[in-house]
Amino acid sequence: MSNIYCSVNTCHYWDKGNICAANEIMVTSDNLAAERPDTLDAPNHAQFPTTPVDDCMATCCKTFVRKGSGDERLDGVKKTT
Ligand code: SF4
Repeated sequence: MSNIYCSVNTCHYWDKGNICAANEIMVTSDNLAAERPDTLDAPNHAQFPTTPVDDCMATCCKTFVRKGSGDERLDGVKKTT
């Protein structure tokens, strides 16, 4: 997997140096992410429809989970560190 760099340090998967420590992430449109449940994430990537947008402001990381959420995470994504 390519390195993913991310500055969102309130995310469960964020690590120092602005590294994303998730073993996989799902990037999609803001609109679709708002519609779909937390259980639908990177492990289900093939189930996502394509989501064309016009600029980067309309995309987001659906894998974001607030740090400290612990067992409440439902996305099935694993931390690599
Ligand atoms: S899961 Fe998304 S929001 Fe969280 S650290 Fe990785 S890229 Fe950033």
